[in-house]
Amino acid sequence: MSATAIFSAFPKLSEPLGLFGGTFDPVHYGHLRLAEEAIAHLGLGGVRWIPAGQPPHRGQPQVTAAQRLEMVLRSTAKNSRFSVDASEVEAAAPSYTVHTLERLRRELGTEQPLVLLVGADAFAGLPTWHRWRDIFALAHVAVSHRPGFPVEACSLPTELAAEFNSRRLAEASDLKISPGGSIVTFAMTQLAISATQIRKLLANGLSARYLLPDSVLDYIELHQLYKSP
Ligand code: ATP
Repeated sequence: MSATAIFSAFPKLSEPLGLFGGTFDPVHYGHLRLAEEAIAHLGLGGVRWIPAGQPPHRGQPQVTAAQRLEMVLRSTAKNSRFSVDASEVEAAAPSYTVHTLERLRRELGTEQPLVLLVGADAFAGLPTWHRWRDIFALAHVAVSHRPGFPVEACSLPTELAAEFNSRRLAEASDLKISPGGSIVTFAMTQLAISATQIRKLLANGLSARYLLPDSVLDYIELHQLYKSP
């Protein structure tokens, strides 16, 4: 049997695709390092950034969805492993992750491993998300460490702790074995940066430089964003 025949006897495994949703109001280095380090730690083929249009779990973002999208485009443009999905921004309805995952499944098929990337704070709030348990039928969930937010079953809401314990994978390399359904955690460089902190600095006329890319800061200055609290 030739080498080609041996290889074609096995199903072709595609690299898992990371999906990174957020308000990104504005995008900062905490987000960028999370996506960059997820590729290495989780063996992802790439990360698709999905800025929320109308985030249902929080107050109205301070700038428009189009402006948040533009800042994500600027900050990710030079990374060939990053792509940006504008569909939540373009949709008229609120951005529910489960709907986005259902759309991506229609686009990418049922076999492609998908990995939803979330910080530890966002993960702890998962039970408040629309049809949250259905998310596991559509994708894996990878939880990154974030300063101030422990990723342990004992610090999670009870119903989420049960999912965490039963779905947790010890090896991130196993993410490619199935299209979804598992939870992994990964340790990233700890950066205590938040969009809230950046908005406060800018509203007080203080510098936010080196917390976010210059290309984003230039855009903020050009359009006079985040001037008021
Ligand atoms: P805000 O301060 O306005 O709540 P944020 O900085 O938390 O914003 P989001 O757009 O809400 O940013 O977050 C998108 C995702 O990125 C979430 O899953 C969040 O947990 C994660 N994230 C944000 N900042 C960090 C960080 N510094 N380290 C790790 N994860 C982060």
